Amino acid sequence: HLSNRLQTVADFVKPGARLADIGSDHAYLPVHLAKQGVIQAAVAGEVVKGPYHNAVSEIDGEQLNAVITARLADGLAAIQPDDQIDTIVIAGMGGTLITNILESGKAHLTHHERLILQPNVGEDHVRRWLQDNHYQIVAERILAEDGHIYEIIVADPAEHAVKYSAAELKFGPFLLQEKSPVLKTKWRSEQTRLQQVIQTMKQAKNAPEAKIQEFEQECQQIQEVIL
Ligand code: SAM
Repeated sequence: HLSNRLQTVADFVKPGARLADIGSDHAYLPVHLAKQGVIQAAVAGEVVKGPYHNAVSEIDGEQLNAVITARLADGLAAIQPDDQIDTIVIAGMGGTLITNILESGKAHLTHHERLILQPNVGEDHVRRWLQDNHYQIVAERILAEDGHIYEIIVADPAEHAVKYSAAELKFGPFLLQEKSPVLKTKWRSEQTRLQQVIQTMKQAKNAPEAKIQEFEQECQQIQEVIL
């Protein structure tokens, strides 16, 4: 049984996929997908020994060694050409880390892979990387679970170059269209945080006016989304 967050990620893995789950920890995602018969094969990549051993013992315990291989490797270095990976999941990390993993692992991409990314923060970094690297966002989800709000970004290789607006990079092209209650909750609390920062800066006598204006514009941009 997966968390709603990981189940939502799992929903975007196509039947018959050859999956690389980078930063897999316990390998819950590939194990679940293998037990459901969704995936043909998977690599569970981990850069840290503890989580790598978690993955190994989970895969052993479920007797899924024929389907899932755990590899101790940094980022996309877990992927080997013979794996013929067509789907890459990177979930449960910051957007900057996800972007760094994609950027430094480019040599391991064939650019035919579907990317299913679940940044905990810094989603805009991820969207910008996708745009700059000829990927097209094909779906997005936002959900609340255990007091956190999570975003899932699904991207396929783009047929034509895509250019997202500043608002689309920040809020997500699909999420912006949908404007779900969860999206509004997320950005309402970000707006509250920004307003507190602005208050504090205004009370401090030497706060730079340009910075205050920048934050005020950001609050205004958010206001248009949460209306
Ligand atoms: N993906 C799982 C999930 O979403 O539930 C586990 C998320 S866990 C919070 C993040 C994992 O990413 C950790 O186990 C960490 O060791 C791993 N990790 C961080 N940087 C990594 C990298 N460069 N390559 C592979 N794994 C990495």
